[in-house]
Amino acid sequence: MSETMLAYRLVAWGAPPELVEVPVPNPGPGQVLVRVAANGLCHSDFTMGELPREIGEALDWSMPFTLGHEVGGWIAALGAGVDGPAEGDAVALRSPTSCGSCWYCTRGQDSACSGGLVGRGYGRDGGLAEYVLVDSAGDVLALHGLDPVLAGPLTDAGATSYHAVRRALPRLTPGTTAVVIGAGGLGAFAIQFLKALSPVQVVAVDSDPARLQLAAARGADHVVSGVDRETVRTLLDLTGGGAAAVLDFVGVDATIKAGLRSLRPGGVYGLVGAGMGTYPGPWYGGMPRDAEIFTFQGSSRSDVEDVLALADSGHLTIDIERFALAEVADAYAALERGGLRGRVVVVPGG
Ligand code: NAD
Ligand code: ZN
Repeated sequence: MSETMLAYRLVAWGAPPELVEVPVPNPGPGQVLVRVAANGLCHSDFTMGELPREIGEALDWSMPFTLGHEVGGWIAALGAGVDGPAEGDAVALRSPTSCGSCWYCTRGQDSACSGGLVGRGYGRDGGLAEYVLVDSAGDVLALHGLDPVLAGPLTDAGATSYHAVRRALPRLTPGTTAVVIGAGGLGAFAIQFLKALSPVQVVAVDSDPARLQLAAARGADHVVSGVDRETVRTLLDLTGGGAAAVLDFVGVDATIKAGLRSLRPGGVYGLVGAGMGTYPGPWYGGMPRDAEIFTFQGSSRSDVEDVLALADSGHLTIDIERFALAEVADAYAALERGGLRGRVVVVPGG
């Protein structure tokens, strides 16, 4: 193993990331060193680069740190006292970490753990490098046949989307319809989870024709182009009077408004997208009676375990677009431009 490696790091608050040479870390007691097979890119990486120093410091984030929180790879070395995974084993790393012992963690609500505010790729060194150090062996999840290059996107995009679908599931009885707004990285997974786990009809809404084509290929029963004045009428028609669940992976004013108006009474609207739109209020047709809204950030350990199990058993198609680590800036530019068919993953090995 060489002593240095390339890493794509934030080097100063408010400054763009840089590809730099850093030492390969050594695992200390209880730690695990993972050779990165691939790291998925996420829109939230952009916001980290723009974070003001005061917020970063209040979150206890260290600067500099390597970006990347969707990691699949192989065990490279184990620190003293770690047993379980063996060198060379294919693994995925939990994306949001959690302490495992607080009130929320012990009730299975580990996505609410305050320990998850700092982690690999957000305040600590992440997976956009040849190797990544894992502080807690509990964050290392064994893969059972799944290619670790495909596993990274499941740890955040997949698990977050699964968390949203899981919360909507009790409403998704036979004969009902679920609407997925924004069939991108997260939404394309949501379509597959909905079809794998419930008997619903799925309608996908997206402004990008390539995404709608992929949505149909991944199981959407109907696709609707864009969100405009006609969308609510179209969705009410397609759903026979309203959706039992709308999962919004965009979250701008237009999608929130259309999503809430497309629900049926007692339906549920899940806001996942960080479009920073606002909720118009329940009155004057803003949303149907007895409808509910939920929102959340991140996922729980059980979410990612379920998603990995679905993928390991062949129930999930993982669409990726590969970029080499040397092309990481191009990879982010492609993510920002949109129009991609799969989740962008950066492969250190090229
Ligand atoms: P993505 O770019 O892969 O997908 C977004 C999709 O929405 C694209 O297909 C795009 O064409 C479509 N879209 C954009 N604007 C639209 C509009 N006005 N009408 C219809 N379709 C539109 O992004 P992603 O990685 O899937 O992430 C989706 C969102 O989820 C982002 O806002 C991201 O920040 C957020 N996110 C939230 C969490 C969480 O914990 N809540 C976790 C991860 C990501
Ligand atoms: Zn906790």
